[in-house]
Amino acid sequence: MKVLITGGAGFIGSHLADTLLDAGHEVVVVDDLSTGSLRNVEQHQGNSRFRLWVDTILNEALLNDLIAECDQVYHMAAAVGVKLIMNRPVETLETNVKGTELVLRLCNRHKRKVLIASTSEVYGKMMDGNGGHPLAEDTDRLMGATTKRRWAYACSKTLDEFLALAYFEEKRLPVVIARLFNTVGPRQTGQYGMVIPNFVQKALLGKPIIVYGDGTQSRSFSHVSDVVEALVRLMDTPAAVGEVVNVGGTEEITIKELAQLVREMTGSASEIEFVPYERAYGPGFEDMRRRRPNIEKLKELTGFTPRVDLHGILRSVIDYHQR
Ligand code: UDP
Repeated sequence: MKVLITGGAGFIGSHLADTLLDAGHEVVVVDDLSTGSLRNVEQHQGNSRFRLWVDTILNEALLNDLIAECDQVYHMAAAVGVKLIMNRPVETLETNVKGTELVLRLCNRHKRKVLIASTSEVYGKMMDGNGGHPLAEDTDRLMGATTKRRWAYACSKTLDEFLALAYFEEKRLPVVIARLFNTVGPRQTGQYGMVIPNFVQKALLGKPIIVYGDGTQSRSFSHVSDVVEALVRLMDTPAAVGEVVNVGGTEEITIKELAQLVREMTGSASEIEFVPYERAYGPGFEDMRRRRPNIEKLKELTGFTPRVDLHGILRSVIDYHQR
C-alpha cells in the first residue's frame, strides 16, 4: 500500500513511517519541519519507497495530489507541546483547525481512509469527582475559559473530532480518531515542554530538574512503539471506523515521583526544584491534575495493550539521550 503521513518527520509520525516501511509499504510524508526534523527521517534517504515533501499541510494543491495517489492517510501533523501552544496560539489554531478540515475534505473527495491523531487534552479539566478516572471516550469534558489560551489547543482538537465524526456520519468517510495520551520515546524533543525528555536531559547534565507546581499532578505515559502499533492496528480494524479510541498507558505517576525516579535511574545528583506554573508558562496557566486513560475500547477493537512499562520507557529515553 501507499500511505500518506502528515507530520511524518515529527516524533510519532517518523516512528510510524519506520514501522510502515518495515512492513513493506510505500510512505509519503508531508511535514513543514516546524517541530519535526530531517534527522528523524534521514535513515530513509535513498529508499525508493520513501518520499518527503517539506511543505505545510495548508498547501491545498499539494495535499490534494498526495491524498489522490495514496491508499490511506495518517493525519499526525499538529501544533504540539504546551509551551509552543502558549507561545504561538494563532499557528496552533490554524494548523489544527484549517489543516484537519482540509485533510478531511480532500480525503472525502478521493474517498481515502483517514486516521486522525487527537489528544487526551480534549478531556480538559476532568478529574476526580468531576467525571471520574480513568477517562473513557464518552466521558463528559470540561474546557477552561477562552481567556486562558492553553485551552485553545484542546478546543481545536475537539473541533477536529467533531468534524471527523461529521464526515463519517454525513458523508460515510471512513475515519478513525485516536486520542493519544502522553507519548514518550526516542526523538521526542524537550524543547516544547514535554516532561520526560526535559527531566532526563537535566538529570544527565547534573542540572536541576524543574517540577512545575507542587508535583502532585499525575500522568500516564506510553512508549512510542506501543502507540505506533496501536495506530496501525486501528487503521486496519474495520470495526474502528467512526470510533474515537483512547491510546495510552495506564500506569499513573505523579510528576514529583517521576523526577525522583529519573534521578534514581540516571544515578544523577541533580536537585529537584519546584517552580510555580506562571514562571514556566506565563500568567493564568491551568494544568490538568490527572490524566489516565481507560483503554478497554482499544483492547476490544484491536486486541492490543501497551507492552513497555514506565521503567522501559525511561530506560529507552535515557539510552537515547546518553547516545
Ligand atoms: N512538567 C514539569 N517540568 C517540566 C515539564 C513539564 O513539571 O520540565 C509538568 C507539566 O507541568 C505537567 C506534566 O509535567 O504537569 C506533563 O507535562 P507535558 O508538557 O509533558 O505534557 P502535558 O501532559 O502537560 O501535555
